[in-house]
Amino acid sequence: MFPYQFQLLVLRDTDKLGAPIPIVLVGFLLFIVLTFVFGRIFCGYICPIGAIQELVYLIPVKKFKIKNKKATMIFRGVFTVGLIVAGLFFSVGLLNFTGVNYFFNLNISPIFFYVFPALLIVGAFVYRPFCRFLCPYGVFLSLVSSIGIFKLRRNDKCIDCKKCEIACPTNEAGRDDLKQECYMCNRCRDACPVNAIDYRRK
Ligand code: SF4
Ligand code: SF4
Repeated sequence: MFPYQFQLLVLRDTDKLGAPIPIVLVGFLLFIVLTFVFGRIFCGYICPIGAIQELVYLIPVKKFKIKNKKATMIFRGVFTVGLIVAGLFFSVGLLNFTGVNYFFNLNISPIFFYVFPALLIVGAFVYRPFCRFLCPYGVFLSLVSSIGIFKLRRNDKCIDCKKCEIACPTNEAGRDDLKQECYMCNRCRDACPVNAIDYRRK
């Protein structure tokens, strides 16, 4: 999991990386380049942390949208800077307090194991809370995605009914939205009554 590997690099705890440092770095860079070209395919289709949050969001309960994108970006940016500072200067891994690594290793002994299941419960109501508030790797992918080449874009068939905007869980389906928090879930395309959203270059 790249978010956790990112933290291991910050902590200089390279024994647990699971691969030599150069390979991990190439993996980091590869998905940043791929995100620049194709959008957040890593988050949408590869990351297991994203996948399990997608699953719980399918639970049919009332959904709550967080409309203030700026606030979520600021929160995640502050958390990521805190994670880097805590790791570099105090050898503390902030991500461990989210329990994500314990959860995926099925290590139920630490008390923080239970934080991630709690986040998953929140994730039934709010779309992908870990990705949007805590993931340090996602910060980079989000920034790169905002200037990316291929994105979901409206075409001339759009009748401005805004059904896509209502369907999008991250408020990224507006005509001028940068798609930095677009996880390529396709809910907007499914909602569009006139097939007015293409995945294409500008
Ligand atoms: S609904 Fe559309 S714009 Fe919103 S996250 Fe999903 S694919 Fe991206
Ligand atoms: S749902 Fe389709 S037609 Fe309606 S605003 Fe979105 S892109 Fe345009």
